[in-house]
Amino acid sequence: MRNVVIIGSGPAGLTAALYTGRANLAPLLIRGVEAGGQLMLTTLVENFPGFPKGVQGQELIELMQKQAAEFGAEFMEGNVTRVDLTRRPFVLELGDQRIETRTLIIACGASAKLLGLESERKLLGHGVSTCATCDGYFFRNREVAVVGGGDTAAEDALFLTRYATQVNVIHRRDQLRASKIMQDRLMRNEKINPIWNTVVTDILDPSKGEVTGVKLKHTKTGEETLKSLDGVFIGIGHLPNTSLFAGQLEMNDVGYLITHDGSKTSVPGVFAAGDVQDPVYRQAITAAGSGCMAAMDAERFLEAEH
Ligand SMILES: Cc1cc2nc3c(=O)[nH]c(=O)nc-3n(C[C@H](O)[C@H](O)[C@H](O)COP(=O)(O)OP(=O)(O)OC[C@H]3O[C@@H](n4cnc5c(N)ncnc54)[C@H](O)[C@@H]3O)c2cc1C
Repeated sequence: MRNVVIIGSGPAGLTAALYTGRANLAPLLIRGVEAGGQLMLTTLVENFPGFPKGVQGQELIELMQKQAAEFGAEFMEGNVTRVDLTRRPFVLELGDQRIETRTLIIACGASAKLLGLESERKLLGHGVSTCATCDGYFFRNREVAVVGGGDTAAEDALFLTRYATQVNVIHRRDQLRASKIMQDRLMRNEKINPIWNTVVTDILDPSKGEVTGVKLKHTKTGEETLKSLDGVFIGIGHLPNTSLFAGQLEMNDVGYLITHDGSKTSVPGVFAAGDVQDPVYRQAITAAGSGCMAAMDAERFLEAEH
């Protein structure tokens, strides 16, 4: 029987492991198949405090894991495949392994939706990004594209106009789905160039290890064109990794876990941290901050039970 089990090894889970480790709760952290989380998909992180010259995403995660291990956190590989939160202790299953725990911290993150192109995967962190706030700064005086037509894409595109010379908004329809106010703001900005009725069929050039352009296809005429670019931002939304908890924890309409009074979920003893409960900020530092909150909430919950 564990005091605390943490699901997820991104900044939220690792911070929760550090805090619960220092509280002598001997936490077990299940790393998941995407060990290290989203920061493993990027290169330089310039906005995590304490690293004036920036830090590689992978290195930051390694440092966090090392720090949590120093204070007694244990790590386990694999994905949790089933949970039973209807009774205590809570039960988690990883294939045929079964773990019981008094409290649970969910830090499963959210995955950015991708277009599904092989070139996109290869160039992620090398000119292809899913996070304008994170990577916009790298595209000062360059030309970029944002793919998508909803609020995420519109917000990303507007944000990128601070840096880029031109922001092409590539959308498969002939108008945006974004709210009217966002559409107006976008259309008034002279750096925005909408490319309607168009899909991206390929991103160039994986052999060079950087983005040099995109292949486009008109959805009505089928006409194919090439566009030179320095960066591509995929702005088609995020999917929180919460299918495991369907029917057991309260979620919003797109599946983000709902937390209240800090990190508490709808089940007492179950806490959530990081992107899995945050449709708004989705940053490493906010994930780490909420990991700290979940750890302190779990600690107080256990204390109150004694
Ligand atoms: C390309 C890119 C660049 C970015 N750059 C920056 C940046 O410069 N600065 C910044 O602040 N933020 C950046 N971000 C955002 C940042 O990475 C996220 O906000 C942060 O990683 C969220 O942390 P998290 O701990 O909530 O979840 P994640 O990092 O998403 O980690 C989720 C974890 O949950 C695990 N998991 C999921 N399901 C299961 C399961 N069933 N069982 C076990 N484990 C499971 C996964 O294996 C993973 O370890 C970037 C994101 C991307 C994609």
